[in-house]
Amino acid sequence: SDHDLTYPSSPSEMDWSKHYPSFIATSDESTTTTETSHPKTTKQVTIADIGCGFGGLLFALAPRFPQDLILGLEIRTSVTEFVQDKIAALRKQAQLTSTTDSTPTLTNEGDATAPPSYQNISCLRANTMKFLPNFFPRSSLRKIFLCFPDPHFKARKHKARIVSTTLNSEYAYVLRPGGKIYTITDVEDLHNWMVEHLAAHESFERVGEEEVEGDVCVEVMRKETEEGKKVERNGGRKFVAVFRRLEDPPWP
Ligand code: SAM
Repeated sequence: SDHDLTYPSSPSEMDWSKHYPSFIATSDESTTTTETSHPKTTKQVTIADIGCGFGGLLFALAPRFPQDLILGLEIRTSVTEFVQDKIAALRKQAQLTSTTDSTPTLTNEGDATAPPSYQNISCLRANTMKFLPNFFPRSSLRKIFLCFPDPHFKARKHKARIVSTTLNSEYAYVLRPGGKIYTITDVEDLHNWMVEHLAAHESFERVGEEEVEGDVCVEVMRKETEEGKKVERNGGRKFVAVFRRLEDPPWP
């Protein structure tokens, strides 16, 4: 149940400093001028993993996207706590083992070039079907992952699926033009449902196969998610679809 969940009334009310303490801004680095009671961060969250489960994707993305703040959102309390504890432990371990300044130099996007500090990943307990735009400003995200979402097989349960006309409009609102939404599932019916609903949405176009196969995120999604590993062990199929957020048409 999610009745005990709280949500920020707007993205500016969200205190990201607790999630990304290495990115707390000094007063002259502050990204906004609005007065809030909490410390500000030098960066915004740009990658979101919806229903992150035990966080396999987050841990794999951390070294590959050191310039991004990456957030997993998960509804189950114990699972969220597990991911938070694991991040804290990995940060501590990284601090102990880092002997030099390991600020990564980026070559190609997705190339890991330095040992990860895990300062750029975090996990938040939330029901992502509610109030997503309260967490993220408009056009702030560049990637959204929907990895192995619960299939909700029965027709009367389809409204609980995390891809729907309404939710797609929320994803379109928080994604910037050119940003991508990544989907993967082992349930063919759910794959078809997600493709159908995203393709029908005016803000999205499907990304072609060549680009999909060349995208490091797709490889990570297939290999590093807990569900991806489980499906691999069981010899199941994995269906992938990627959609690009289009520019909004000019205002009439
Ligand atoms: N993405 C992970 C992976 O690929 O290994 C976990 C997949 S698991 C099948 C689906 C996850 O989504 C579960 O951990 C579940 O608790 C979470 N979830 C389901 N509905 C959710 C919601 N409305 N908001 C946030 N998380 C949700």
